[in-house]
Amino acid sequence: MSRLYLSPPHMSGRELDLLREAFASNWIAPLGPHVDAFERELAARCGVGGAAALSSGTAGLHLALILAGVGPGDEVWCSDLTFAASANAVRYCGATPVFVDSDPRTWTLDPNLVAAGLADAARGDRLPKALITVDLYGQTCDYAALEPLCAEHGVTLISDAAEALGAVARDAAGHERPAGSFGRYAVLSFNGNKILTTSGGGALLSDDAAAVERARKLASQAREPAPHYEHVELGYNYRLSNLLAAVGRGQLAVLDERVVARRRNFARYRELLADLPGIGFMPEAPYGRANRWLSVVTVDPDAFGTDRETIRLALEAENVESRPLWKPMHLQPLYAGCRVLGGAVGERLFAHGLCLPSGSAMTDADLERVAGLVRACQRP
Ligand SMILES: *Cc1c(COP(=O)(O)O)cnc(C)c1O
Repeated sequence: MSRLYLSPPHMSGRELDLLREAFASNWIAPLGPHVDAFERELAARCGVGGAAALSSGTAGLHLALILAGVGPGDEVWCSDLTFAASANAVRYCGATPVFVDSDPRTWTLDPNLVAAGLADAARGDRLPKALITVDLYGQTCDYAALEPLCAEHGVTLISDAAEALGAVARDAAGHERPAGSFGRYAVLSFNGNKILTTSGGGALLSDDAAAVERARKLASQAREPAPHYEHVELGYNYRLSNLLAAVGRGQLAVLDERVVARRRNFARYRELLADLPGIGFMPEAPYGRANRWLSVVTVDPDAFGTDRETIRLALEAENVESRPLWKPMHLQPLYAGCRVLGGAVGERLFAHGLCLPSGSAMTDADLERVAGLVRACQRP
């Protein structure tokens, strides 16, 4: 049987036409009309004032922290259950990450822990400079709670929406807004396994037009407007190439279909596995609609008779890729010794959670194949 990947790229066909056009006009690198158009289309899609197309989501997080004024000696709070890139960007700035656990009802950042933690920090006069909220596996955080909290304490909110393009959530005013519109800055990723891909890429989004312009400058080696190369501040080489922006435009045009397909995967897994004792599913938060980037289940080894790792190995033996959930940052050797608020929820999800193949091109036969293999692992 051919290999089933966790989340492979899914091209629509339009990408190649747009690439041909870029080749025909010889806009190969570095910037160009597809970058400008991709930025406009991303901003429109996410309902924000502007977007800077970048070489990766990680670059976006780094620039967002710089724009927030984060530097050595500062604290930045960050979702504990996430990919390391969210936290690594804090270290790039010489700042200290503090990790905050998930809410068991949504698996995303627990707003009650944030509220209690910020109240405490305010009393001790040691508030974090920024909060990085991770829209986990395509589900946004509870921004109706988190945006007002950050505003109250003067903490810059940076939403890491790398996994959540196409998701929506209600804000404190009851308005439904797209992932990528929350916080002062939001970050997207177009890495190879995300819901849309440019093979590699990312974006920084904000309503603050001057901040987006500054992000573009910092991402272009911070070159000053002069005929020669003039530099006043430290810059980076973080811009997206015109070729990859062409691919991104082709991908963005089919985002709605991709969300439908990913949500269908999840619903079908749920149907196929619902009767199995000990199998749970990532809950959908009542405040929004996830893009279901990855279909995630939990395995209670006592009720199911087999643990998560045994299932993962059984799938691998049949050429099916699956993966444990993110290992919480407070358990990573890199972040040993960092402060963590809570931590038990993420630990439990890491111990028992499994991400199933979730590509938007999966067929019903693929989904049945995976579900059948999971089912066969049950032990009475
Ligand atoms: C993928 C991902 C990133 C990093 O994006 P890159 O484009 O790979 O740099 C950051 N945060 C989260 C939560 C991610 O899933």
